[in-house]
Amino acid sequence: MASRPGRIPGSPRAVRTANNPPIEQPHPHIDFDTVARAAERIRSGGVVAFPTETVYGLGADALNPEAVARVFRLKGRPSTNPLIVHVSGPSMARGVVSQWTPRADALAREFWPGPLTLVLPRGDAVPEIVTAGSPGVAVRAPNHPLAIALLMSAGRPLVGPSANLSGRVSPTTASHVREAFDEDDVMVLDGGACPVGIESTVLSIMEGPPRILRPGVIGPDAIARVLGEPVLENAKGDGPALSPGMLAVHYAPHTPATIADPDDVQDLLDDADEDADQCVVLSHRLAIEVGEPHELIRMPAGAAEYAGALYAALRAADDRAADRIIVDRPPTTSEDPAEAWVWRAIADRLRRACARG
Ligand code: AMP
Ligand code: MG
Repeated sequence: MASRPGRIPGSPRAVRTANNPPIEQPHPHIDFDTVARAAERIRSGGVVAFPTETVYGLGADALNPEAVARVFRLKGRPSTNPLIVHVSGPSMARGVVSQWTPRADALAREFWPGPLTLVLPRGDAVPEIVTAGSPGVAVRAPNHPLAIALLMSAGRPLVGPSANLSGRVSPTTASHVREAFDEDDVMVLDGGACPVGIESTVLSIMEGPPRILRPGVIGPDAIARVLGEPVLENAKGDGPALSPGMLAVHYAPHTPATIADPDDVQDLLDDADEDADQCVVLSHRLAIEVGEPHELIRMPAGAAEYAGALYAALRAADDRAADRIIVDRPPTTSEDPAEAWVWRAIADRLRRACARG
C-alpha cells in the first residue's frame, strides 16, 4: 500500500479502554522512505526487525515459507517452536485464519492493537512452518506506529518472533537487536524502547474454554469480562510447557542467575564473599544496599514499570560479566488484580531467566 509522508494511511488509533493496560504510546519520527525500503525487503523475502509495544520482532513475510525459514535459521530457533503472525488488524487476521470467530472479534475490538495474541484455526494461506505443524495459528495486531506502518506498507502479515538468538533475553531496543544480527542479514527499524517490555499474552480460543498459554500483561480477568465466560490459566508456572516452544530455560542471560526472597539476598551475598565471587543484584526495594565488590541495579517498584525495565536490566547485568546475577524477588500479588497479573507474568519470565542458575 502506498504511503504518504507524515501519515499512516488508515492506521488504527490506539484506544485505551478500561481493560487495556496503560501503555505509554511511543511517538517515534516515522521516516517513510525507510519504511518503504523495509517493506520492499519483506516483499522480496528478506528479514526486517521492527519495534512493537512488547519487544522487537524479527519480521518476514508470513506467507513466504522461505522467508520464514530464514527467520528460524537466523534465530537458531527449533522448528517445533511456532511463530506469531503480526497483522494490521482484524481484516488482515481473517486472511491467516480459517475462522474468525465471534470470540476473536470481541477480543480484537477490546484489546487490538495490543499485547494479546489469539490462537485460532490456521488458514490455508499460512505455510505449516509458521505454526510448527500445529492446526492453530497465533495472531496479533501490535500497538506500535512503526510496526503498523511496516505492516500496512508491506501489505503482508509478518511473522515476528522476538529478535534475539533462540533462548536468550528478548530485545527491547534497536541496539539489542544489532548486537545479535549482522546488518547484511537483518535490517533494523529503530523505534526506541518498547514500552510494555515483556511478550504478549497468548490465548487459545480454538475449541473448549479459552486458555492462556503464556502470561503477559493482559490477564484472565480482563479477558473473561469481555468474553462473559471463564478463562483457564495454563501458564501457572512449574507445570509442563503447554504452549509449544515454552521452554523452561528461556529469556536467559549468559551469567548464571538466581531468584532470591528478599530475606535471602544478604545470605547469598555473604556466600559470594566467601567464594570471592562478584554479584549483580536486581532489586525493586529502596532500602537495599550491597557492599563492594557487588553491584546494584535498581528496578522500579510498579509492575508495569518493572516489566518495561526487566530485559534491559538483565542485559545490563550480563554485561558486567559478574559471577552471578541475583534477582531480589519482586511481589507476586497486589490489591489490584490487573497489577497482580503483571507481577505473575514477570515471575514467569524471571523463572525462565533463572532456570539454570
Ligand atoms: P516469541 O515470538 O519468541 O515470543 O514466541 C512465540 C510464542 O507464542 C511461542 O513460543 C508459543 O509459545 C506461542 N505460539 C506461537 N504460535 C503458536 C501456535 N500456533 N499455537 C500455540 N502457541 C503458539
Ligand atoms: Mg522469544
